[in-house]
Amino acid sequence: MLADLHVHTARCGHATGSIQDYIDIARQRGLTEIGFSDHLPLVDRDLPGLAMKSSDLGGYVGELGRLIGRQRAEGAVDGEPAVLMGIEADYIPGTEHEVSRMLDEYEFDVVLGSVHFLGDWPFDHPDYRGRYEEVSSDDFWAAYFATLEEAARTGLFDVLAHPDLAKKFCVFPSRDPSELFESLAETAAHAGVAVEINTAGLFKPVGEIYPSRELLAACFANGVPITFGSDAHAPDEVGREFAQAVALARSVGYREAMTYEKRRPRAYALPEI
Ligand code: ZN
Ligand code: FE
Ligand code: FE
Ligand code: ZN
Repeated sequence: MLADLHVHTARCGHATGSIQDYIDIARQRGLTEIGFSDHLPLVDRDLPGLAMKSSDLGGYVGELGRLIGRQRAEGAVDGEPAVLMGIEADYIPGTEHEVSRMLDEYEFDVVLGSVHFLGDWPFDHPDYRGRYEEVSSDDFWAAYFATLEEAARTGLFDVLAHPDLAKKFCVFPSRDPSELFESLAETAAHAGVAVEINTAGLFKPVGEIYPSRELLAACFANGVPITFGSDAHAPDEVGREFAQAVALARSVGYREAMTYEKRRPRAYALPEI
């Protein structure tokens, strides 16, 4: 069994493909579960094309709900991956109540928590790269990890997505980041949240999986569970480089990963690939 729990759709405004298109590729690639995790509408800022519009959330949840209802009533048909209703929610300090209200409105299987903003800066967005000139890389990394720890402690999220996204554009701290990693791993363990092994980083300027081996090793040492995510924004990206992701997990000691149903985690053994 292998689950890709991080997949977008055209509804977020910067991805292509329908829910069915992603399911078809997941089936071809032998994934046993596919968790949709399109971007929850942003509550305190108007940035079209970064997340679903509020008016699209009902359609997203409704379409997935019908598919899942059919699968859970009749069982999945030959080779069809089981579908999970997930969502990727931004952690933006001050928006917790509104995010919590939206998450409670629907029966999600899994909620990914992401830090894509520091203040008003969408630091992982290529159009805003100029802002890196204005900050020290040490301050930037410290702020990113502090915000991700806060996200873990809110209790809003099951999984921390792409946990070292700060490295996306190859901006690295001058100081050894191992204390940041240890602190995040301890906080995630105490909060009971998993971290995601996200293969999209392989295709970004940094050219490596999120998280780094060092951060993942700290997570393993602290007993933090893992999930896998491709962060597909096109159907062909589903499950990409998962053999590498599983190998990385094994190499630091993991033997199992998590999937979710109605926000209850369940472990499965890592496949032999
Ligand atoms: Zn996206
Ligand atoms: Fe993200
Ligand atoms: Fe994503
Ligand atoms: Zn993402």
